[in-house]
Amino acid sequence: MVGKELDESGHLMEVRVSNHDQNAGRLFVVATPIGNLGDMTARAKQVLADVDLIAAEDTRHTRALLNHFGIETPMRPYHDHNEHDVTDALLKVLGRGEDIALVSDAGTPQISDPGFLLVREALHLGVAVIPVAGPSALSAALSVSGIPAGRFVFEGFLPARKGQRKSALQALRRESRTLVFYEAPHRIAATLAEMAAVFGPDRQAMLFRELTKLHEQLTLGTLESVVEAFTAGDVPERGEFVVIVQGEPWRQASDPEAERLLSELLKELPPARAVDVVVRLTGQSRKALYRLAMSFKPDR
Ligand code: SAM
Repeated sequence: MVGKELDESGHLMEVRVSNHDQNAGRLFVVATPIGNLGDMTARAKQVLADVDLIAAEDTRHTRALLNHFGIETPMRPYHDHNEHDVTDALLKVLGRGEDIALVSDAGTPQISDPGFLLVREALHLGVAVIPVAGPSALSAALSVSGIPAGRFVFEGFLPARKGQRKSALQALRRESRTLVFYEAPHRIAATLAEMAAVFGPDRQAMLFRELTKLHEQLTLGTLESVVEAFTAGDVPERGEFVVIVQGEPWRQASDPEAERLLSELLKELPPARAVDVVVRLTGQSRKALYRLAMSFKPDR
């Protein structure tokens, strides 16, 4: 159902209430294992066996999964290079009342994987879009990181070009939330070294290799020590990687009010005087506030 409603500032906004087209098929967005087939959920198996068609990122890859579970549902490729062409065809299938399951090679579709266009268009047409929740390298890594995961920023893959990658990292330098990245094996060592240069060697980090698989490996330490683990050959540059980096620690330490006060005072006073005043007024740590004051300086 689509309606109109006024928002807080009095603007008309479109309101959509989940009310599906009963004649259309359903689109199931199905998470599949990121390595360990034991992580395939019972519901994922059932849905893949029951739907009329599976839209798969790589049909050969998904064929192996289906064979393992004795599922014979027909497939159609749906990936980054054909999604514009194939989306219309899949919408027609749904329009005929047939059910489709969307899967990627591993984990949850749309998490650094195809799926966005089909899901968006299906939603616009009022098709029931149903998540079949399950594994993702993102949630698997966060769940064992030992780094606060209440608030985090998922960056997915950094840009492949060196200059763009550095700019992307620099834009995150002051981010206080936990940072999560995916990275390819041939770039992981360079990316970690760049992270240590931009975020500082002392930042806590965790490197996950081959999660849920036979050669699962977790490396915890400072960014410097994780880079050293590569240099020493302790971590092979093979397999799949997730990197989690602690947010900017001194920002986490200060409260937002102290931070606001400090930034105002720095416009009028030298850093040491501004910090003195904020310590007096808020009782926050002098060291943390001083580091924060330094981080505000444009030349840092
Ligand atoms: N959709 C997937 C998900 O939900 O996690 C991610 C797909 S993305 C194309 C593939 C990247 O995810 C890999 O390059 C790696 O960074 C990460 N990844 C996937 N499986 C992993 C695993 N078992 N261990 C570590 N990282 C993994």
